[in-house]
Amino acid sequence: MPAAIRVHRTGGPEVLTYEEIATPLPAPGEVLLRQHACGVNYIDTYYRSGLYKAPSLPFILGAEGAGEVVAIGEGVSEFKPGDRVAYAGAIGSYASERTYPANRLVPLPEAISYEQAAGMMLKGMTAQYLVRRTFKVSAGQTVLVHAAAGGVGLILCQWAKALGAMVIGTVGSEEKAALARANGADHTILYRSEDWVKRVADITDGRKCDVVYDGVGKDTFPGSLDCLKPLGMWVSFGNASGPVEPVPMLLLSQKGSLFATRPTLGTYVAERADLLATADDLFETVASGKVNIPVNQRYRLEDARKAHEELEGRGTTGSSILLPSS
Ligand code: NDP
Repeated sequence: MPAAIRVHRTGGPEVLTYEEIATPLPAPGEVLLRQHACGVNYIDTYYRSGLYKAPSLPFILGAEGAGEVVAIGEGVSEFKPGDRVAYAGAIGSYASERTYPANRLVPLPEAISYEQAAGMMLKGMTAQYLVRRTFKVSAGQTVLVHAAAGGVGLILCQWAKALGAMVIGTVGSEEKAALARANGADHTILYRSEDWVKRVADITDGRKCDVVYDGVGKDTFPGSLDCLKPLGMWVSFGNASGPVEPVPMLLLSQKGSLFATRPTLGTYVAERADLLATADDLFETVASGKVNIPVNQRYRLEDARKAHEELEGRGTTGSSILLPSS
């Protein structure tokens, strides 16, 4: 019997309920997937807690997965049973089987395993658009990555380093600092105990950074703005510590004609051509060895609650995945 993690009411990790489900039927334009691995992402905690609103209650959590096509709905010509595929986007991934719109799936190259794919479709495509499109990182630039040992963080550090930037990473512990340095960070700062704004100024001899990638949100604002050189860009892409308060536009002027953006992956891959190009660039970058996807936590699907407790408790590094039993 297929199974899934459902949320009947929003709240803490305890609201995650493991349940048997009926095999879903693919509607026209959809495929049915047998999932081999599902990604765990910080955004899942926002939907679970109610910070982001799910379409309706109850719902199956999760936005990233990889598996094989087992059936196709009417009108699907791009995929057939047996194809290996992966995706990031529509919620409902914490399940052994699910349906998915065929035009939002990506064919998975043989070189990428299901576990790797589940660890990187959402985080890796996010890192891709952040370093290649939101702010085009190039050689000689200085990049600050908050939560550098996290899922998106470790990929960002490696990718920015591969593009020739100097990478500074903030982290919550010595162990995370060592991991970030092993994955492309030239310098690390323990932002919970050090004056990280001052450390950034010291490391850069007062020149500061071209871009700050900030997935932490509330706790790193407005410090992140003080780490930017004039005309630098603050990329606020997440809220791990809570949402950022409204930002007065004049602050950007006072701190050096700064740019600020609050991007989401959905916008960057809304067109199918962009989805495929983003995924291709990610797959090539991983296959070339420039970026490694550290899947550092694996849980059984039924242990999703533990996965959330550890993610929110700052106890994880790199990517976490859930493995449905076959
Ligand atoms: P992470 O693996 O990075 O986990 C979050 C990390 O944030 C923690 O490990 C912790 O690292 C740090 N953190 C700082 N403050 C807190 C706090 N108060 N509570 C918990 N953790 C805290 O998660 P993901 O890689 O899944 O996501 C990283 C960020 O990227 C999230 O904000 C997420 O929403 C965002 N995101 C945005 C996307 C977009 O397109 N906009 C797409 C994908 C992710 P430490 O101990 O080192 O401080």
